[in-house]
Amino acid sequence: MDFSFSEEQLAIKEAARRFAETEIKPLVERMERERSTPRELIRRMKDLGFYAVQYPKAYGGAGASYIEYVIMLEELSRVYCSIGGHISVNNLCAGTINDFGTEEQKQQYLPQLLTGDAIGSFAFTEPGTGTDPKAITTTCLRDGDEWVINGEKLFISNSTIPGYIVVFCKDVEMEGRITNIIVPKDTPGYRTSQLVEKMGMRGMEVADIVLQDVRVPYGNTTGGEAGRGKGFQILTAEIAVGKLGISAQCVGMAQAALDESVKYAKRRMQHGKPIATFQTIQSLIGEMSAEVAAARYTTLATAYKRSQGMDILYDSARTRLFASQVVHRAASNAMQVHGAFGYTTEFVVERIFRDMKLAEIYEGVNEIQRIIAAAELLR
Ligand SMILES: Cc1cc2nc3c(=O)[nH]c(=O)nc-3n(C[C@H](O)[C@H](O)[C@H](O)COP(=O)(O)OP(=O)(O)OC[C@H]3O[C@@H](n4cnc5c(N)ncnc54)[C@H](O)[C@@H]3O)c2cc1C
Repeated sequence: MDFSFSEEQLAIKEAARRFAETEIKPLVERMERERSTPRELIRRMKDLGFYAVQYPKAYGGAGASYIEYVIMLEELSRVYCSIGGHISVNNLCAGTINDFGTEEQKQQYLPQLLTGDAIGSFAFTEPGTGTDPKAITTTCLRDGDEWVINGEKLFISNSTIPGYIVVFCKDVEMEGRITNIIVPKDTPGYRTSQLVEKMGMRGMEVADIVLQDVRVPYGNTTGGEAGRGKGFQILTAEIAVGKLGISAQCVGMAQAALDESVKYAKRRMQHGKPIATFQTIQSLIGEMSAEVAAARYTTLATAYKRSQGMDILYDSARTRLFASQVVHRAASNAMQVHGAFGYTTEFVVERIFRDMKLAEIYEGVNEIQRIIAAAELLR
């Protein structure tokens, strides 16, 4: 088994790291203040191909694999996880079309989503459900050669950025089975709320949406006629891939927490010597380094499996569960290493502490990840 990165993988890692340090980092303060994703940053990521890494060249992708994808996401998230989240959510939409769309849908939508000309969103959550697909109330009703969609979706990432959104609806004619529909965000009847005021991940735009008599062609059913009523399969498969992206974000944030702790511990003096000389600090740093390495290898292993076309339902649940716990502990330990200063907005660890919590919640809370992981063993 070869665990080393190829030259291409190292080049992607280096390009993402350089971009994050030189082009994302200077904008972090502004993103935290304005709570939005700068459109000029989207344009730069489009130029660099960050939206396209793991997709086929035939649709405008770079033709690399999910390994390169998680390598890139880790590096971007190491500097600012909101941008990792923004790209991951675009992939939920692009991935849905790539994996389940008809050939015509792939040709129509993927080139724009993979170049970043259109930004994707994925709308499942509603006021009454974040976990249970049976409780979805947004409806789609066929009217001749059109769909009419009505409902409300909450906490939808990237929903305020022009592009496409894949919407999970209760299909009225199919006894409430779930149908997924591709909706251009400029369709009349599609409305977003004010941006949600969040504790962290402030550079990733999140808003609630209202769909009021939204009409799109019947042909926008993801997967065409054969895809109708298959929303639950789509949701399960794509969220599994989404959780792989979140795992990479966790590894990036945990690595940043570790890096900041090492830097600070060498510099901060107490009792006439750097705190790095205290065994209690060494213990925190040693533990973080072990856990970050384990989370990274688990993430890469799941990415490898996905790149081989294998099912990652259980793997991504385990990986996301573990990686999100690792970053939680790393953020907490990093704050401990920094003492009172870590609790101030002057230090990066304060933001990591706020950003990392989402990883235990979105795309399925950790309680559900435990249930999925156990299901493989207990069936
Ligand atoms: C910043 C942000 C961005 C988001 N982006 C998107 C997006 O782009 N698209 C989208 O569709 N959604 C998005 N969401 C929504 C997110 O995916 C849901 O909030 C999440 O799935 C949890 O759903 P919920 O909030 O309804 O929690 P609930 O389902 O109400 O769960 C609350 C708690 O109850 C417990 N619980 C619930 N169900 C079970 C169970 N079966 N077994 C045991 N315990 C359980 C858990 O402790 C859980 O934490 C986003 C949310 C946030 C905060």
